[in-house]
Amino acid sequence: MLKINEIYHSIQGESTSAGRPCVFVRLTYCNLRCTYCDTEYAFYDGKDLSVEQVIDEIDKYNCKLVEITGGEPLVQMDECLELMKRLCELGYEVMIETGGSFPIEDIDHRVKIIMDLKCPSSGMENKNLYENINYLHAKDEIKFVIGNREDYEWSVDLIRKYNLWKKCIILFSVVFGKLEPVELVNWILEDKLNVRFQLQMHKYIWHPQTKGV
Ligand code: SF4
Repeated sequence: MLKINEIYHSIQGESTSAGRPCVFVRLTYCNLRCTYCDTEYAFYDGKDLSVEQVIDEIDKYNCKLVEITGGEPLVQMDECLELMKRLCELGYEVMIETGGSFPIEDIDHRVKIIMDLKCPSSGMENKNLYENINYLHAKDEIKFVIGNREDYEWSVDLIRKYNLWKKCIILFSVVFGKLEPVELVNWILEDKLNVRFQLQMHKYIWHPQTKGV
């Protein structure tokens, strides 16, 4: 059984798939407590559904792009891996958003992984599992959520240290309401940094606190 917080149909707000209709499957629980977390409601609440029941729910939306998210979906590792494998077999385009503190090596290779590397201002930097970088492929994406200049410099150092440009797509976001987007964009341009800046599109379409979008 999987503990599921919510399943809903919306517009993908982040990543290189931003703007596309997508079914989101939000799994309950998270092992982290980021300072800027906007999904605390997913830490405990949810209902128990089997993998097949989750797939039945997804089917109802007639949408082939599915994102598995949380909380931290890999807290429920075995069932989550099974769900993604089954969805791939059924011809879905599957993405997973993970905070990067659980091993990703067993994720089906057809799944697009979007993995955070937690910056210092998240308070969770010491939870990053850097071995995970070895299991990312060109189709995958690493996300840095940047709250201040220290986070920015930390991210640039890490990209250089692990030569992440050669690994996968690199996303830079701001901590919503903490760092002005224009500041981060200016730093990127000043440094001629080859990263992809993104905004959480759903927070501009709907009120930033709206759930299920
Ligand atoms: S990993 Fe995501 S869900 Fe978990 S505390 Fe951090 S921001 Fe919240």
